[in-house]
Amino acid sequence: MKAMMFVDCQQDFFGGGALEVPNADEIRPVLKKLMKLAKDEKVPVLKTMDSHVENDPEFKVFPPHCIKETDGQASIVECSCKKAVIFEKATFDIFDKKLGSPQIEEWLKNNNITEVWIAGVVGNICVEAAVTGLRKLGITTYVFENAVTWMDMEQGVFCQGEDNKETSVKRLRQLGAHLAQVRL
Ligand SMILES: [Zn+2]
Repeated sequence: MKAMMFVDCQQDFFGGGALEVPNADEIRPVLKKLMKLAKDEKVPVLKTMDSHVENDPEFKVFPPHCIKETDGQASIVECSCKKAVIFEKATFDIFDKKLGSPQIEEWLKNNNITEVWIAGVVGNICVEAAVTGLRKLGITTYVFENAVTWMDMEQGVFCQGEDNKETSVKRLRQLGAHLAQVRL
């Protein structure tokens, strides 16, 4: 069975948000289309949501963002879905045993999910972490290239050297993920 996963499609990561990802607003129409497609085809929708408490240790590295019960933590309107199954995390990797939602593994298993379509932000951080976890479970994974925002990064928290869409896509392919395009 298939599932659609939206990674961190939250107001704080989009235009005007507390931790705005450059160009994230450009994928809004594509995310909207994917959500409609999932609803029309009755594909279960999963959403990972970054979720922090005030003074979260992560705020030593990043400006405060996605604080529980704030507008910034809420889903962008294009990804609203009452039936979505939400998995919260206080780090970049949803599969992280301590700060992620490791119960996602059980959910995927219990719902016989064998294929996941994935979209969201940031391609070379949270999306890539989710793909890594999915592939470890042997789940067929499609990354919608035009529904993901990648970041150009210099050496830092997430990378040893320069990192961008190209290096990330290479790693995704090595993980055995498929790259796909959403037709608008
Ligand atoms: Zn965060």
